Amino acid sequence: MPRIRILGGGLAGCEAAWQIARAGLDCTLIEMRPMRSTAAHKTAQLGELVCSNSLKSESENSAPWLLKEELRRLDSLLLACAQKTRVPGGHALTVDRELFGREVTAAIENNPRIELRREEAVSIPADHITIVATGPLTSGALADEIARVTGSNRLFFYDSISPIVEAESVDLRVAFRASRYGKSLDGGDDYLNCPFDREQYERFVAAVLAADSAPAHIPEDQTPFFEACLPIEELARRGRDTLRFGPMKPVGLTDPRTGRRPYAVAQLRQENQRAASYNLVGFQNHMRFGEQARVFRLIPGLDNAEFLRYGQIHRNTYINAPALLAPTLQLRAEPRVFFAGQISGVEGYVESIATGLIAGRHAAELALGETTRPFPRETAVGSLCVYVSGADPLHYQPANITFDLLPALDEATRARLRHDKRARHAEVCRRALEKLDEYRSVYV
Ligand SMILES: Cc1cc2nc3c(=O)[nH]c(=O)nc-3n(C[C@H](O)[C@H](O)[C@H](O)COP(=O)(O)OP(=O)(O)OC[C@H]3O[C@@H](n4cnc5c(N)ncnc54)[C@H](O)[C@@H]3O)c2cc1C
Repeated sequence: MPRIRILGGGLAGCEAAWQIARAGLDCTLIEMRPMRSTAAHKTAQLGELVCSNSLKSESENSAPWLLKEELRRLDSLLLACAQKTRVPGGHALTVDRELFGREVTAAIENNPRIELRREEAVSIPADHITIVATGPLTSGALADEIARVTGSNRLFFYDSISPIVEAESVDLRVAFRASRYGKSLDGGDDYLNCPFDREQYERFVAAVLAADSAPAHIPEDQTPFFEACLPIEELARRGRDTLRFGPMKPVGLTDPRTGRRPYAVAQLRQENQRAASYNLVGFQNHMRFGEQARVFRLIPGLDNAEFLRYGQIHRNTYINAPALLAPTLQLRAEPRVFFAGQISGVEGYVESIATGLIAGRHAAELALGETTRPFPRETAVGSLCVYVSGADPLHYQPANITFDLLPALDEATRARLRHDKRARHAEVCRRALEKLDEYRSVYV
């Protein structure tokens, strides 16, 4: 049987290679650095952390903690390297980046089952089980190959992410349900609408214009954007009314409280795999996260909004995963090809490690002639897979782990814990780890 190939020796690729070796199989890991680098990497190390040194919260019963705890239980190499190179960072798992990269590199180089090749991958071989894990800055030649395999309209080069708020933090005494001209996609009222009067709108636009921008990570992040997904601050700069003729247009909407069309609206959409949250449609932006919280709480109905994710726009190569992938991260049309890491449509270091682990384990199962068994839906790793393979492909935006990706608790438990969010989160985590342990007891 030909060796499994992994393209890209970053966070996802190294974790995948290690999981395959752990399953007793040989594999080849292909990394193009140092011969060819990316706009963000600075070293020849495998698993280089390109920006912050934080793997996010370690506060027990938070969603980022749950994902890490699951990875630890699944024997993740990169989480073990992070633990070894940990530096003080309050509630977060922060590492010494240099030592972390060294640990990952040594673990891969010293593993006899992993052959490391330092070369640029330019094709997806037809006769190997292959994991594509070349990350957000995949080289051009391979991006062309991925576009050929997946269809060019399913490969994106920029993230245009709008903020997400917790559903229960939206003030429903202000926001109203309706679709423009009463035209709903599914027979219901698809959107929640936050209505502005003129004064509220002008205050909001002024705040957007005055907000601080986040610094660009790489030069490409400063290049002009597609007209179709401009940051809202760019729209605001083009004129006082540009936003209310664009993403904040009120046409076709009547506020039931006034009986009139609002001066402007912010529309919130619930996504099919994100039951307990809403996406602020068209509010992608470049503002610092703290500024986003301050400015978006000026939106009527969002005064007390809890943000699960902030808006971003940056260079990112990723596929339209829900149109292409199964929950095992295999291409539906070509199951010997897996995608992992940012390119599979997740966002963040730990999410990239997680999808590397998942793809590595499933690739090993496939090579051994076994059935690829998706992780339980109740787990964080399982929920990430369900999101990337099952979200709405028409509005796909990469995701990091948040509680709204996990299935809701049963009604009786929700009712019992309705006043205690912490207890609800603790219960979601308990259930996830219980299901993961059941899975591990069958499929080591
Ligand atoms: C500038 C920037 C800053 C980021 N900052 C953060 C942050 O602070 N926190 C966070 O959680 N997430 C951050 N991310 C998002 C994401 O978590 C990281 O990009 C993460 O490294 C993704 O892991 P990965 O394994 O998918 O890709 P990578 O870690 O980038 O690994 C991909 C590897 O593939 C190699 N490669 C590319 N093309 C080829 C090819 N054709 N042949 C062979 N090798 C190839 C690359 O050299 C690289 O080593 C950032 C992303 C970018 C672009």
